[in-house]
Amino acid sequence: MRASSSSGGSKIIDLMHSHKQSLGPFFSFEFFPPKTEAGTENLYLRMERMTSLQPIFVDITWGAGGSTKELTMAIAEYTQTYFGVEALMHLTCTNLSVDEIKIILKAARDSGIQNILALRGDPPKGAVSWEPAPNGLANAIDLVRLIRQEHGDYFGIAVAAFPEGHPSSSPRGSPGSPGTGSWAESTIASDIVHLKGKVDAGADFILTQFFYDPSVFLDFVARCREADITCPILPGMMPIQSFSSFEKMTKFCRTRVPQRVWAELEPIREDDEAVKAYGIKLCVEMCQTLSAAGVPGFHFYTLNLEKSVLLILEELGVTQNMSARRALPWRGSRSSKRGGNNGEGISPRVNGSEDVRPINWANRPKSYIKRTVTWDEFPNGRWGDGRSPAFGELSDSHFFRPTEGSKEDRLAMWGEAPVTPQDVYEVFAKYVEGRIPILPWCESRPQAETRIISDPLAAINRAGFLTINSQPAVNAEASDHTVFGWGGPGGRVYQKAYVEFFAPPDLLKLIMEVIGMHPSLTFNAVDSSGNQHSSGPRGVTALTWGVFPSKEILQPTVFDSETFLVWSQEAFQLWTDAWASLYDDETESSALLYDIHDTYYLVAIIDNEYIDSTLYQFMLDLSVLANKRSAEGGKSDETDSGAIGFDE
Ligand SMILES: Cc1cc2nc3c(=O)[nH]c(=O)nc-3n(C[C@H](O)[C@H](O)[C@H](O)COP(=O)(O)OP(=O)(O)OC[C@H]3O[C@@H](n4cnc5c(N)ncnc54)[C@H](O)[C@@H]3O)c2cc1C
Repeated sequence: MRASSSSGGSKIIDLMHSHKQSLGPFFSFEFFPPKTEAGTENLYLRMERMTSLQPIFVDITWGAGGSTKELTMAIAEYTQTYFGVEALMHLTCTNLSVDEIKIILKAARDSGIQNILALRGDPPKGAVSWEPAPNGLANAIDLVRLIRQEHGDYFGIAVAAFPEGHPSSSPRGSPGSPGTGSWAESTIASDIVHLKGKVDAGADFILTQFFYDPSVFLDFVARCREADITCPILPGMMPIQSFSSFEKMTKFCRTRVPQRVWAELEPIREDDEAVKAYGIKLCVEMCQTLSAAGVPGFHFYTLNLEKSVLLILEELGVTQNMSARRALPWRGSRSSKRGGNNGEGISPRVNGSEDVRPINWANRPKSYIKRTVTWDEFPNGRWGDGRSPAFGELSDSHFFRPTEGSKEDRLAMWGEAPVTPQDVYEVFAKYVEGRIPILPWCESRPQAETRIISDPLAAINRAGFLTINSQPAVNAEASDHTVFGWGGPGGRVYQKAYVEFFAPPDLLKLIMEVIGMHPSLTFNAVDSSGNQHSSGPRGVTALTWGVFPSKEILQPTVFDSETFLVWSQEAFQLWTDAWASLYDDETESSALLYDIHDTYYLVAIIDNEYIDSTLYQFMLDLSVLANKRSAEGGKSDETDSGAIGFDE
């Protein structure tokens, strides 16, 4: 096994070796660069959801003839930076001179990419056969050699293998052809010799072409082992998405398909949904057979599609212990540009790692990563001074655009024309009930721990406490608990109850009237002009911590009263830039949202008593009181803070 370098990323081979099989198989996803900008945005959303399942890596294909080279690299870098997952960048020899390949390798290294799938490549579009470029390389062995020669051990390198022979090096069969003839035999034997050449040149592991008969893969692996190829060989799994594409692909790739599969597909071939469901069932069966034979992980050709792969992983039970797989409660970044990058593998690196984050960006992690991209350590002494320019500005308007759907979709989600505060409150309540997928402040559906408290949250939202972040108290749950766990098995995790919400000034006043009766609760509040109210000492409070065997206590999530002020500016801007901007100026809806922006407070409450927390009961009691006052003609939707007159 090659040694890891000390650079930003990690080698996938090391992640494979450190994977604990007690957590179930590891898995990886292949994506290809879309043709349009909109397609790329959609792919990012899909990848964000899919990478939350914690694949060991994702790989990004290199368009035939290098047609996607910039985008391939950009997607790989984005994946590492924002999804915290190691990227394996495909690279082919097609159409590239040695000098051009050297430039690409350097650019990849500069972007923090540390893993390359070294391929000869398909012929460029329109060409029938593959020809090396002038001053280029002839095959993948040469590419692996060049990478090692130029970069030593820096890159982790994967190579491709074809368990049923390379399609162009032997006659093609037809669907259903047994594929066990002597022609295939001689091809596979010579391919294995070439494969050994690629590994000897410096490849760390092998990804195979897809297949539909597990014995094909297992026989191939056995023959590789006989040929002294000892590195990991990951099976390529391609769930069947439609009958016609399956028929075409297996014919082209000369894939052996068991007669049973054709027979089972025949009666349903016209029914796309039934074919897809069959594809899922078949893939699950294949994975189970391979697992039983000792295969440690699977590589999925997603075709940029989500559903089949997710259902397969669910069926395999892999998604049940997600929390045991996460190193920290939040997803890390693997950007080499952020000095504290920890890669968030199963075993996060300790030195210089990013091991603590303020809770505020929990539902907008990409924005946090963007704003701390130049930090060289975490927290870098930067908390405790909200006025410090340390947090980067979010100059890119992209970060204020909601992340999902068209304008019409967002209008449908958040209201065609909200005109009263209650219309807005209802949107927040529906989000915590799971009836609306995102809010400007929450880029994905509520997390499992939020769903546990969705009833009280919905009630308090309807009373005008518009929650954007929350966590219940946890006292010494097992660190592989399905909802609260993180850090791997064997530890105990803890958290203080926390809730963060926008509220009109009269509700903040109500909080301030009664919070003194609950000595374990502290609050911080600020409006968009920077007017502040708080109780308890200012500074940093641990919100999530864990105790693990033979480790210091880990404390990955904190609240910092000064960082809260930095976050509040972004949070207020989302009212106008992400939501009010959906409506024409001068409309009632736009005026309402601007009014909320101008007058409401952002409030954070921590319950420092994590064993018998009363925070949510307190919020429910407040809601009852608020509703009562409102019914009595009080000013629960009063938005003029000047009229209320806080005692400073
Ligand atoms: C997992 C996977 C991912 C892929 N991703 C991409 C992608 O992103 N972009 C893309 O364009 N294509 C991709 N391909 C397709 C691949 O580029 C083609 O199938 C290509 O024809 C073979 O690539 P290779 O790296 O296996 O080539 P090589 O290992 O170089 O082999 C190519 C052919 O030459 C033969 N050969 C190799 N070395 C020698 C030698 N020294 N002497 C004689 N014959 C030799 C082999 O037996 C084989 O038939 C992928 C394939 C796989 C399996």
